[in-house]
Amino acid sequence: MAKQEDIFKNVVSHAKEYGFIFPSSEVYDGLSAVYDYAQNGVELKKNIREYWWKSMVQMNENIVGLDAAILMHPTTWKASGHVDAFNDPLIDNKDSKKRYRADVLVEDHAEKIHQKAQKEIDKAKARFGDAFNEQEFVTTNARVIEYLAKEKEIRERLGRSLGNGDLADVKALIEELEIADPETGSKNWTEVKQFNLMFGTKLGASAENAMDLYLRPETAQGIFVNFLNVQKSGRMKVPFGIAQTGKAFRNEIVARQFIFRMREFEQMEMQFFVRPGEEMKSYEYWKETRLKWHLSLGLGKENYRFHDHEKLAHYANAAADIEFNFPFGFKELEGIHSRTDFDLKAHEEYSGRKLQYFDPELNENYVPYVVETSVGLDRMFLAVFATSLKEETLEDGSTRTVLKLPAVLAPTKAAVLPLVKKDGLPEVSRKIIEDLKWDFNVAYDEKDAVGRRYRRQDALGTPFCITVDHQTLEDETVTIRHRDTMKQDRVKITELRGIIENEVSMKNWLMKM
Ligand code: ATP
Repeated sequence: MAKQEDIFKNVVSHAKEYGFIFPSSEVYDGLSAVYDYAQNGVELKKNIREYWWKSMVQMNENIVGLDAAILMHPTTWKASGHVDAFNDPLIDNKDSKKRYRADVLVEDHAEKIHQKAQKEIDKAKARFGDAFNEQEFVTTNARVIEYLAKEKEIRERLGRSLGNGDLADVKALIEELEIADPETGSKNWTEVKQFNLMFGTKLGASAENAMDLYLRPETAQGIFVNFLNVQKSGRMKVPFGIAQTGKAFRNEIVARQFIFRMREFEQMEMQFFVRPGEEMKSYEYWKETRLKWHLSLGLGKENYRFHDHEKLAHYANAAADIEFNFPFGFKELEGIHSRTDFDLKAHEEYSGRKLQYFDPELNENYVPYVVETSVGLDRMFLAVFATSLKEETLEDGSTRTVLKLPAVLAPTKAAVLPLVKKDGLPEVSRKIIEDLKWDFNVAYDEKDAVGRRYRRQDALGTPFCITVDHQTLEDETVTIRHRDTMKQDRVKITELRGIIENEVSMKNWLMKM
């Protein structure tokens, strides 16, 4: 089996070679952790966004959309806590000049110790087979006990030091554990410092009068400050939700995993406003509903898991991540947070305006509680793209690279291919395209032998290839080839629309939720 790093390298190079993702400003050697979506990437990304939007806004009478500006009044970020608390602890290596997240260095070290314990467990499992009792082994084997105790001690101490803002102790921990720069092995570290992740910018023409602004680090605050505007103008009744997709910016300290962690990325967020006391019911509902949305894409149930947070952010009373099995392991894909009334109350306090809802059934005013679902569009892209990319060995021993994207998300739904470039076949192909393009993204390709054209469409993730041949001229039939099974059927031209529609319509996919 291919190694994880190789799979990941493959994903990155396929994304570039087939026009999905390019490094930003590549002619200048790129900009770290910033990427551009190319001709096929932009379609895939748009389809994911639309799939989310439809499931949220179109399918729910009580959820409406919003498109708030990226630039917001700077007090927004005081109120939200981002100016004071949106920090990561960073540490520099004096020799290599490389910068790291101090907490991640310690966590990775703890994880390594965990892996040692796991190795002992796996070895014993292999030795004892069915008779192996894991529970008994981990509580009696001296080595495993020692490893797990050490791991626990490290994680607890890190949690305590970060919780108390004791950065000197984080540094002491790194030294005591003799953690070295993962790239160079040097242990020559600076002090640990807090680093604010917000990008600053300025509004105004002259330096003296300019106002300091931030590029939004999350889309959520645009929703909170508009909560009452939307509620009143839309005559919304609690419970209701506001959904938004848009860019967010974070000056991430370490951004090395392609589009998993970028400095400019896109979020798809929905804030659901509920009566105080009803937030846990809503939280459970959205956890389950969001997982169903992911599962509807058919990437495999085993690739998702929940991670419930023990350490909660300053605004939350419950939080969970939906983690996905990326090529580099299980990592956060989406967050579901019960944010209490923290944000709306903070905006009331800082703005001096009331952000309350009059509940006609209870006959009282209150600040609603909020349950948030927040998924990174780029991380969704990576999850879908990486999981769909397959190397297959065919019956005749040859191999093919195929991007088995969920058909509903595929950038191009069908490619129309004249068998040869003459005898009127290109003209018939063009006519088919003229007819289909009103409903679907379709492509035309006449270059190379038809087998190579099939392979190219496989690598682009196109679910259908329609081949026009000499028989078409006689009986108005074509062959339609299915990407995943490579099965070919002879069908009437007039049947094409129905066949494609059935496989790609958002309705059919969303109904699986
Ligand atoms: P992480 O722990 O990975 O830094 P987070 O917990 O800070 O993520 P949230 O603030 O909950 O993330 O943001 C919601 C979603 O936005 C995440 O689940 C993720 O999909 C996406 N996201 C966050 N930061 C980035 C980033 N730098 N690049 C791409 N997507 C991101």
